[in-house]
Amino acid sequence: MHPSVLLLERLASLINQLLRQDAASHDLLPIQWQALAYLAAANQYSNIPTAVAEYFGTTRGTVSQTLAVLERKGLIRKEADPTHGKRIHLVLTDAGQRIMTAGWSTRLEAALASSAAEDGTLECLLRSLLSSLQHLNDNHAFGVCRQCFHFLRRTDSAHCRLTGEDLAEEQTVKLCREWKKPLPTAQRQPAPSGGSLDRGR
Ligand code: SF4
Repeated sequence: MHPSVLLLERLASLINQLLRQDAASHDLLPIQWQALAYLAAANQYSNIPTAVAEYFGTTRGTVSQTLAVLERKGLIRKEADPTHGKRIHLVLTDAGQRIMTAGWSTRLEAALASSAAEDGTLECLLRSLLSSLQHLNDNHAFGVCRQCFHFLRRTDSAHCRLTGEDLAEEQTVKLCREWKKPLPTAQRQPAPSGGSLDRGR
């Protein structure tokens, strides 16, 4: 077995352990904690029940129970989409935000900051590995908006070429269900300005 497989297995196991501890300390199941963490990181196209189900590779029925618990505990609230009739966005409440800021990921960030992995090499490697595994498992990719094929940085704004909409700066660091892997620099061509996405899915 490749030594990296053992290291990744050990890391995954340790992260799982931290995650279970965090969840238990707030009287949540691990999946409920993970769904809250996902919603904290998701952009405006991805903080909807369908996207939560896609992200965890489960059904909407299963995920709706998880979301109902988070809502009942006052950790998330529903917000109607101002432009898309019945669409509901799931947003963290102040209480939800508070418990996220002290979670296991902040400890991992501190460990990363004190390691030799700050130059982006590790991030590139992990992203490539994740992408390959998602491809093998036929999983939906999800990715950070700024690193998307459709992302366009303009002089004074950010823009999504898929939806044809401008993006608030804080949205550009969030996860998106519509994310697409960018082309290598040499193959990039200007993409047509969009508006083609049916966000009513
Ligand atoms: S640029 Fe990509 S990641 Fe960002 S909102 Fe558009 S589709 Fe989503």
